[in-house]
Amino acid sequence: MDEATKARLAKNEDFFREVNARINETAESHGLDSPSYEFFCECSDATCVERVNLTLSEYEHVRAEPKRFVVKNNHVVKEIEHVVETVPDHMVIEKHGEAGRIAVELEAKSTEE
Ligand SMILES: [Zn+2]
Repeated sequence: MDEATKARLAKNEDFFREVNARINETAESHGLDSPSYEFFCECSDATCVERVNLTLSEYEHVRAEPKRFVVKNNHVVKEIEHVVETVPDHMVIEKHGEAGRIAVELEAKSTEE
């Protein structure tokens, strides 16, 4: 896998991260206390529309680390990421190398705005 491909995959994941951030904000602003919400799988497949179930605090726990993303089980691209947590519904992955660097960079940009 070349560097350009890795960069593209990392950016795909960032797109779903933005969508999920909005789901999180909406849920918080409504003050709903549902046990879990449906977030989008944040894997690097831009066409993937699978959902993962997380509580808001679980989601925020993942988001606290810019290199960490939540994906459906087995939606892991081993060239750019590794699994740090496995639960029955989903996996938490962490980016390494260039993909990790891009994730941190994009996170910094989105918090500036
Ligand atoms: Zn996926």
